[in-house]
Amino acid sequence: MNNNQQITVTSPLLPDLDEFHELLKEIWNNKWITNNGSFHCRLEAALCEYLKVPYISLFTNGTLPLITALQALRITGEVITTPYSFVATTHSLWWNGIKPVFVDIDPATGNLDPDKIEAAITSKTTAIMPVHVYGKPCDTKRIQEIADKYGLKVIYDAAHAFGVEVNGKSILNAGDMSTLSFHATKVYNTIEGGALVMHDEQTKKRIDYLKNFGFAGETEVVAPGINSKMDEVRAAYGLLNLKQVDRAIEARHQVAIKYREALRNVEGITFFDDIPGVKHNYSYFPIFVDAEKYGMTRDELYFKMKEHNVLGRRYFYPLISTFSTYRGLASAHPDNLPEAVKMAESVICLPMYHTLNDVDIEKVIEQIV
Ligand SMILES: *Cc1c(COP(=O)(O)O)cnc(C)c1O
Repeated sequence: MNNNQQITVTSPLLPDLDEFHELLKEIWNNKWITNNGSFHCRLEAALCEYLKVPYISLFTNGTLPLITALQALRITGEVITTPYSFVATTHSLWWNGIKPVFVDIDPATGNLDPDKIEAAITSKTTAIMPVHVYGKPCDTKRIQEIADKYGLKVIYDAAHAFGVEVNGKSILNAGDMSTLSFHATKVYNTIEGGALVMHDEQTKKRIDYLKNFGFAGETEVVAPGINSKMDEVRAAYGLLNLKQVDRAIEARHQVAIKYREALRNVEGITFFDDIPGVKHNYSYFPIFVDAEKYGMTRDELYFKMKEHNVLGRRYFYPLISTFSTYRGLASAHPDNLPEAVKMAESVICLPMYHTLNDVDIEKVIEQIV
């Protein structure tokens, strides 16, 4: 099979190579290639402005900010989270010796269902870790009310929510902290990379210690930190990508419009529409297959697409709660998670990226209608 004919599920946003080369020259001249260099500082400042957040700390990927946020907030015992996410969400709890407690999702959004959180709280619960799945905002108000009532922390895995706003305000300011991933497959990437968003300078300082072995000074180590610093090369790459991310998001928006137009009246296929007041980032385009109405199962459609060189992704399938590490937990039982099971068994994410052209969009649609 000729790979060039394949329509992949994603394609990375890449900076202009000549511009990147200019910045590389600057780094070579500086001879400062990591540890809070000038590009690192510039990218943090630029991201604060772009994302409308007060403080941000860059990381080397999107998993370490999750692990580090839990460390910084001294989260222990049990944490309520969603099974409908990428495995890193739950893994971050496991790496901190925390027991994940899975709660079902709201089928209208794919996000943790606030109505089901309270029943899962025990004397050991210390935090809630929701995910803004596909960049769709969680019900942050309800979640905060529950957290306040029970004295819990809230850490959002906002890996999909780069630039997402509700009524002009960044979704990243919700909860105690929010994490971002700048992995190659995300809307905005630094190849590998990530960040932690926080509300105050004190927390930012603490996080900066933790991502640098716990160093608070030349000879002072204040915590058993880790090494998860972003280097200058990727920070420079990130600065360039930030200049074009709005254009990329708008191009994705146009793809979403075309998919919706073509699929709106296909029996047995559903998808999410935009939510009024929300600035979306079009990070993914999931469709949901109702096998009975559509006349074909999700997997049949998925493999048919694949045969015709259209690579969708069953994202998120299988549920995190089904993996060997977690399936023994009482909360991982499928009877506890009926909506998540249903969504995981019906979803296909269609190819979605800024350079997807009309011919390819048509090829994708042809497979489904
Ligand atoms: C991508 C992703 C992560 C992990 O980010 P990496 O940068 O790949 O480490 C965490 N959570 C979710 C929901 C993700 O999609």
